[in-house]
Amino acid sequence: MSVNQQAHTGPPYGQPQPGYQGYQQPAYGGQPLPAVPQSQYGAYNGPMPGYQQPVPPQGYFPSLGFPSKGSPVSLNSDTSLAPNFIGSLRAPPTSGAPPPASGASLPSGHLAYSQFGHGDVQNGIPASAAPMQRPPASQPFLPGSAPTPVSQTSTFQQYGHPPASVQQLSNHMAGMTIGSTTASAPPPAGLGYGPPTSVPPVSGSFSATGSGLYTPYTASQGPPPTSVSQGLPLAQPPFPGQPISTQRLPTQVPGFAPPPSSTGIGLSSYPPTTGAPRPPTMPGPPLPGQTLAGPPASQPNHVSSPPPPPSTMAGPHPGPPMSGLHGPPPPTHPPQPGYQMQQNGSFGQVRGPQPNYGGAYPGTPNYGSQPGPPPPPKRLDPDSIPSPIQVIEDDRSNRGSEPFVTGVRGQVPPLVTTNFLVKDQGNASPRYIRCTSYNIPCTSDMAKQSQVPLAAVIKPLATLPPEETLPYLVDHGESGPVRCNRCKAYMCPFMQFIEGGRRFQCCFCSCVTEVPPHYFQHLDHTGKRVDFYDRPELSLGSYEFLATVDYCKNNKFPTPPAFIFMIDVSYNAMKSGLVRLICEELKSLLDYLPREGNMEESAIRVGFVTYNKVLHFYNVKSSLAQPQMMVVSDVADMFVPLLDGFLVNVNESRTVIASLLDQIPEMFADTRETETVFAPVIQAGLEALKAAECAGKLFIFHTSLPIAEAPGKLKNRDDKKLINTDKEKTLFQPQTSFYNNLAKDCVAQGCCVDLFLFPNQYLDVATLGVVTYQTGGSIYKYAYFQLETDQDRFLNDLRRDVQKEVGFDAVMRVRTSTGIRATDFFGAFYMSNTTDVEMAGLDCDKTITVEFKHDDKLSEDSGALLQCALLYTSCAGQRRLRIHNLSLNCCTQLADLYRNCETDTLINYLAKYAYRGVLSSPVKTVRDALINQCAQILACYRKNCASPSSAGQLILPECMKLLPVYLNCVLKSDVLQPGPEVTTDDRAYIRQLVTSMDVAETNVFFYPRLLPLTKADVDSDSLPAAIRNSEERLSKGDIYLLENGLNIFVWVGVNVQQGLIQNLFGVSSFSQISNALSTLPVLENPFSKKVRSIIDMLQVQRSRYMKLIIVKQEDKLEMLFKHFLVEDKSLSGGASYVDFLCHMHKEIRQLLS
Ligand SMILES: [Zn+2]
Repeated sequence: MSVNQQAHTGPPYGQPQPGYQGYQQPAYGGQPLPAVPQSQYGAYNGPMPGYQQPVPPQGYFPSLGFPSKGSPVSLNSDTSLAPNFIGSLRAPPTSGAPPPASGASLPSGHLAYSQFGHGDVQNGIPASAAPMQRPPASQPFLPGSAPTPVSQTSTFQQYGHPPASVQQLSNHMAGMTIGSTTASAPPPAGLGYGPPTSVPPVSGSFSATGSGLYTPYTASQGPPPTSVSQGLPLAQPPFPGQPISTQRLPTQVPGFAPPPSSTGIGLSSYPPTTGAPRPPTMPGPPLPGQTLAGPPASQPNHVSSPPPPPSTMAGPHPGPPMSGLHGPPPPTHPPQPGYQMQQNGSFGQVRGPQPNYGGAYPGTPNYGSQPGPPPPPKRLDPDSIPSPIQVIEDDRSNRGSEPFVTGVRGQVPPLVTTNFLVKDQGNASPRYIRCTSYNIPCTSDMAKQSQVPLAAVIKPLATLPPEETLPYLVDHGESGPVRCNRCKAYMCPFMQFIEGGRRFQCCFCSCVTEVPPHYFQHLDHTGKRVDFYDRPELSLGSYEFLATVDYCKNNKFPTPPAFIFMIDVSYNAMKSGLVRLICEELKSLLDYLPREGNMEESAIRVGFVTYNKVLHFYNVKSSLAQPQMMVVSDVADMFVPLLDGFLVNVNESRTVIASLLDQIPEMFADTRETETVFAPVIQAGLEALKAAECAGKLFIFHTSLPIAEAPGKLKNRDDKKLINTDKEKTLFQPQTSFYNNLAKDCVAQGCCVDLFLFPNQYLDVATLGVVTYQTGGSIYKYAYFQLETDQDRFLNDLRRDVQKEVGFDAVMRVRTSTGIRATDFFGAFYMSNTTDVEMAGLDCDKTITVEFKHDDKLSEDSGALLQCALLYTSCAGQRRLRIHNLSLNCCTQLADLYRNCETDTLINYLAKYAYRGVLSSPVKTVRDALINQCAQILACYRKNCASPSSAGQLILPECMKLLPVYLNCVLKSDVLQPGPEVTTDDRAYIRQLVTSMDVAETNVFFYPRLLPLTKADVDSDSLPAAIRNSEERLSKGDIYLLENGLNIFVWVGVNVQQGLIQNLFGVSSFSQISNALSTLPVLENPFSKKVRSIIDMLQVQRSRYMKLIIVKQEDKLEMLFKHFLVEDKSLSGGASYVDFLCHMHKEIRQLLS
């Protein structure tokens, strides 16, 4: 066989892989690790069963005890204050390398590592002497024994995984959810979502979150519901024929309605929402026990919500008029059994109407029209409308126990909130690609009719859980990967070999290409190559090719990338202790730079720059006794004053670097310089990488609006009065095009920019973030940074950011089979043409959402194919191609489309689409367009797929029954409907973060997870069952945790037992709880341990470290917390879920009439 061409070191393909059961095997990460505690770096290497292993306490507090260093001899003054000094060191203004500064003699630094090494290294990661090991992005592939056939469903043993291990895995994962990998954006600092008074100084820092952990996996929460109900009656239609008592059974738990088997969820009609008051006779008989206006009787614990005003539901809503809201409601139709499932007709139990409910929707400003005297409103019973919690639980219980095998075309994966294992049998894992629909309409007419966007959310370098196999690395030698002659698609499982294996027909463009001699292989009787299972590119959905020199810039293999740390040393940065913190951290963090496979040390070189109005470069060449500083004050024409000695190997220059990091905080300690430059900093990093002829990443730590005279200088143009005007969009746009041009240059060089912002006031994130955004970088924001409360978060974010897997100089192209093509892209990247997505850097957390449109008809037989090819340079400088393939079904019946949609992915797309829309349109226009599109999607379903029923009934497709609630969350988000205290920077920040989020991240960001801590079982590893995000679900006697990927709130009810308060906070009463806490006290009792382990676990699951905020019921901060109770009406005017659902129903009825 000519098969064995690749030289590999990895485990043979097809054999049981060592890596399968653990993440430390050589195959996976390279070097065998010494016995390391399981959690060691686990977060980094892959999700750990977060559940079972609470993250180790983050014990790293490097900052506090800064070792005192000897005083620097000559570098101890801020150059800005010492002209003479500067003069001597300054490089010639125009160019030319400045003479090396006379070196200051710095005390020799201590070994950087010494202080940290043990015990407290990365957050959550137990320290150990073992080198931080990161899994290689891919594994070498060695042809080996034949795996089982791809298309089977059974899969387990496919690639040799021992069945036993599988079992073990599934058990192991049963309790976990996959949540996330998400990095979410911290809410803006200012925070304030509440009333002005509500936000104490604390709030200032509310924003960013750090992330610390490295793992995408989340644990699952509560016990799976036993019943599978999928459809819930949404509304309570009056059922004439039904006995009342049946309808409103108190026992009815949301979600437990008899499950309809498939798609349609019917909502029964609720009282007409449209304006007219509801006749008292309205269908539902009053139910005994129903309370008016108040919270449902069944939830006595309802916390402090004011009695709802008379319902506005029927009345015109006071808020901004929304289209479609006017008009008297259509006559109510005879109620029909609310649940229309079209497919099987069964419908769930319906709760009876609650005529007496007086208005649970206290303000529906948006949708309501006038507050008129409300007719006896009928309130939709929240328990009768689709519950996100129920859907999540159902999916967990139905799909969490078996692996998701990718051998079947068009298969809809489990939800992102379900913890499941993936077996690659020919299609890319949903961890890499998720689609809005797995069944694409055959024609563009159908697609237009449905209005369902066809999009894929792609995360090319996604981190996999340790139990799953990393993509194999295939090396075809000098000839490179085999590709279609015409469309250049890469060899994949869908190519058809013909003529005895001498040629293959492209599955994308149908062109026939000769098989290169070295790649020839005979076919078996089914027409399949006999080496099918030996080659990842023939049998797997995801794999990598080693790229040849043809894939390299200038036809030269790349050199390893470099990291340049660029630290603002102006007054604010020095005063807050930030500079000292960063320097101290870097001394240990530099030993954890990404490394590839079994390399002993990272190939990444490092460099250092500090700046305020001028830039200081440092020569840290290993041969120097002390670092040397060179100052460049001519920021208008940036250049790098030294080449040799600027970018160095950490191990070689360890002593000099440590010395420098000890010196920097001392040198600028007395600075009075408050002004900073910004663009020249990026330019300096870019020039340094150019000079070194490599790609790399800049880590910029910046504190203020760059007002110093220099290119890219900015002015404060913040103006909240622009909100809700046609000019609001300018707040999201950069104030100068200078940064767009700079970004373009950075992308060309492979210079990725990660930005850490520490603002005490407006610093124009919309403009400063341009380069970061277009180079594929990350932005972090810590408003009103305070060492005591924010350092953990920042350090965790920094550690993760420095260590995470990243590809440089990346170009991604998505090819599709004939009939559809990629037409639009969303994410952090740059595009110089219409097909190639360019990213100076692409890390494991970044996603690119791609939209497809028809350009021809598709056929049900052939389906549709996507191939995402990412060309990038690894952290060791190896040029690679990562390929992900996905096959989808095509349909001629709309019902098939609606049956195979994924709402979470749809929301990811819609949010990104809307967040881009605000750059060019008023936010109201954007919101209206979103509502309209979703109404059309649902109306099309109703018209074409649902069984005939009265117009008064809302019928939702099963797979989209959460579309209204999630859409409402997007509409109410800070970007689209800001509350009074949300700052302009916060909005720009969130807008950028969401644009790169994956599906799990957008899911929890828009619909936060709310857990009753007091219901947690302290003896189990599981999380308490989540509850819906509504105040009426809260009990005064309980403590809850809410997380959205950016923040974690711990809400304490006023009636919580003193013992619980003592156990959790270490104080004797509710009034003594301090809401200034940024961490919970470490107390030795089961409840405290359980809560802290839950928090640690959640931190591990997110890509940013979440800020912990303690909220006491009825305290000022509670307003902020309530902002995240997304099923309720928001202070900024966002509708409640119930109101919004009614509104959507009206919109749909209008479209249908
Ligand atoms: Zn082709």
